[in-house]
Amino acid sequence: MGCLFCKIAAGEIPSQRVFESENVLAFRDISPKAPVHILIIPKQHIVSIHEVSNSDNFPFSELFEAIHKIAIQENLPERGYRIVSNVGEDGGQTVSHLHFHLLGGRALHWPPG
Ligand code: 5GP
Ligand code: ZN
Repeated sequence: MGCLFCKIAAGEIPSQRVFESENVLAFRDISPKAPVHILIIPKQHIVSIHEVSNSDNFPFSELFEAIHKIAIQENLPERGYRIVSNVGEDGGQTVSHLHFHLLGGRALHWPPG
């Protein structure tokens, strides 16, 4: 068992890293749904957006700054991009470690299926 993204954060499972800071890691999705598809995660284990608690003491500003920097790094701001965080079964969450999908590089459908 164990959490896949905790293992990726620990370097126990390899990933294509695109950004790292003290509390945040970003790496390319293994099964990209768009030309740019990057996952941004807290290094610490938080289950989902719904499970966030003040007691996590997680610096979300650092995570959103990471998204901002990566979007620039990937040349996305001019055309635009999407941030998605799935929660639970109906939300389509398959990995129970909070992550934000950064999608871009093509026009994205709305609403999603
Ligand atoms: P979710 O469905 O939970 O919102 O997103 C999980 C994402 O993790 C999926 O887009 C899936 O392709 C990606 N993923 C699953 N396993 C791995 C892996 O081992 N490495 C990487 N880089 N991405 C993964
Ligand atoms: Zn985890």
